[in-house]
Amino acid sequence: MRYAILADIHGNFDAFQSVLQDIDDRGGVDELWCLGDIVGYGPEPSDCLALLREHPHICVAGNHDWAAIGKIDATDFNPDAAAACKWTAGQLTIADKEYLQSLPRTATCGKFTLAHGSPRDPLNEYIFSALSAAGNFRSFGTDYCLVGHTHVPAVFTDSEGHCLKASMPTVLHLGGVRSIINPGGVGQPRDGDPRAGYAIYDDVERVIYSYRIPYDITAVQEKMRERGLPVYLSERLSEGL
Ligand code: ZN
Repeated sequence: MRYAILADIHGNFDAFQSVLQDIDDRGGVDELWCLGDIVGYGPEPSDCLALLREHPHICVAGNHDWAAIGKIDATDFNPDAAAACKWTAGQLTIADKEYLQSLPRTATCGKFTLAHGSPRDPLNEYIFSALSAAGNFRSFGTDYCLVGHTHVPAVFTDSEGHCLKASMPTVLHLGGVRSIINPGGVGQPRDGDPRAGYAIYDDVERVIYSYRIPYDITAVQEKMRERGLPVYLSERLSEGL
């Protein structure tokens, strides 16, 4: 079986569509694994939810997903994120809200635990460093954990009590070493590469393939301008920051 690993779509329908097209071009997958933050920041939150739900998928909740429906507090959001969250809340249908409400905090898929931020604090914690990753290996029972939230692709491995951080390779062989893996962000990458990031897991090869996909950033920026979303949120898309 093959699974696409998607994180942080963030209402960016163009990026999401380009990623789904790329998945099709590579022979398709059996299921999408979505690591949360489907909405927030981007101009088409409801369309992204509809497109996700057209596919067989498993999805966990992100902080923006639950902030948009008032299930968690958005008071720690910066002003731009808070403004986008408020706008997003006004775009969601009743069905969208029910769907977001129903998302679990974590999910288990075979050898993988899925969480938005981290397994010990799924909605809030950012795993940027080996130190923060190290504190999380006891918080999941599977071999591997998939996270998003930072929008930065990375691999953290737990070897004999030492946690090592590495950049996400294009081909990651899963050799049994416990790992926390971040595929990068679909809708708002923050590693300096503005192309949409995602990954495909092949459970026969036991390999995760990492991809970066160009999409029409200018079209998304134009939609954000039309909707009055904060200028910085639009500008950062072309920087990948
Ligand atoms: Zn996010």
